[in-house]
Amino acid sequence: MSRGRSSGSVTARGYRTRQDAGGRYTPRMPPRITAPRGARDLLPEQGEAWTRLEAIARDLSRRYAFDRLDTPLFERVELFARGLGETSDAVEKEMFRVSGAAGSEEERAEWALRPEPTAGIVRAFVEHGMHVRPGPLRVWMLGPMFRYDRPQAGRYRQFTQWDVEVLGDPGPMVDVELVELAHRFYALAGVRGVVAHLNSIGDAECRPRFRRALLDYFGSHEDRLTDDSRRRLRVNPLRVLDDRDLDADLAANAPRSLDHLCHACREHFSTVRSLLDAMGLAYRLDHRLVRGLDYYTRTTFEFFVAGREGQQQALGGGGRYDGLVELLGGRPTPGIGFGIGLDRVLLAGEEQGIPPAVSDPLIVVVSADPGAMVDRLRVASVLREAGLRVRPDGSTRRLGKQLESASKVGAHWAVIVGDELQRDAVVLRDLSTGHQEEVELAGLAEAIGSR
Ligand code: AMP
Repeated sequence: MSRGRSSGSVTARGYRTRQDAGGRYTPRMPPRITAPRGARDLLPEQGEAWTRLEAIARDLSRRYAFDRLDTPLFERVELFARGLGETSDAVEKEMFRVSGAAGSEEERAEWALRPEPTAGIVRAFVEHGMHVRPGPLRVWMLGPMFRYDRPQAGRYRQFTQWDVEVLGDPGPMVDVELVELAHRFYALAGVRGVVAHLNSIGDAECRPRFRRALLDYFGSHEDRLTDDSRRRLRVNPLRVLDDRDLDADLAANAPRSLDHLCHACREHFSTVRSLLDAMGLAYRLDHRLVRGLDYYTRTTFEFFVAGREGQQQALGGGGRYDGLVELLGGRPTPGIGFGIGLDRVLLAGEEQGIPPAVSDPLIVVVSADPGAMVDRLRVASVLREAGLRVRPDGSTRRLGKQLESASKVGAHWAVIVGDELQRDAVVLRDLSTGHQEEVELAGLAEAIGSR
């Protein structure tokens, strides 16, 4: 490379270098690597609020008697294609495919990161023969899902769902139990004004009639459909109702699934509604709520903050899928479940100005003696044993500096380890008032706890 023409170069480790006026190459910072588009880092300041949501999900799972079931983050593409339907957006456009190491047999395997949890859970149900277990199976899961969608506010390529599923319970009571559970989650999370949208899309018996009616209706208005809807009309007419850009008038006058339900589906839905009423759970009938996935039958529901009911604003959704287990090779078993998007619940909380979750008080252990490392660790250990939240300062800076940084990181207390330790005591300093006093080590945790 000639000196005159180039102003930079790249070293073997990828570090860019710059040529200075004297012709010497000086190292520059390596190029920054950023998070993949549509995926987020959970930053420490959001950690407490997130942990709180997870804790609510875990606690409610326990209280509603769900058992934990975890499935792999990736599964065969075939599972989603069969379970969700080849024509669902999740399969057709949003699949995050993964492959094995180059040259391996798995390199060619057709795998995808899970776009939703139900297909994997039902696969596990069939694979482990869980139908022989007594009683309906009630399971929960909490973890990331992946959809290769266009990222925007509230829509990520990796997001987290709390999911519950019940297999082997035909309802209708459990349908209402799940709606109530979701409402309780939002209430505990502090999100106000959540409304449930509700619909029934029938079953194998009556859905064909509804399909036919949609085909006729939208077929005669094809010129008013988006390109996407024209395509949907051919492969799955229900999904035209799902089209974000569907003409509002056309949607308002479209055939309604509730008018096409067979007797059994009508009865089921009518009981769901009267149980919701009796439980004082308000809902809004939503005729366009067909859910994007092929496997849903009968009851479908989604949750929104009232007034913010756009498609990308659902805080959770779910429904019944009585045909899915059979579709995935199991015996006919009814199923129902929901997924709640924790990322969106967190956003809704922030928008509503829910006060940030507060952590337990923080204690920093400091010492003027740079050599007193073991003492600091021991004192921290005693306090942690008592359940307190502690970080020891391992630096050799002056005591004043250590106390200053303890205040900066938001500590409430400083425990100063010094000569007092010879009589099994330390100095406890209240960082907000500056007041400090000698406290016996044996009673330290209690002394902090009592203030
Ligand atoms: P769905 O099965 O698509 O109804 O998803 C269930 C819930 O997961 C939704 O109601 C959202 O709260 C959440 N969710 C779905 N897709 C995304 C996404 N791309 N980004 C963030 N949250 C999502």
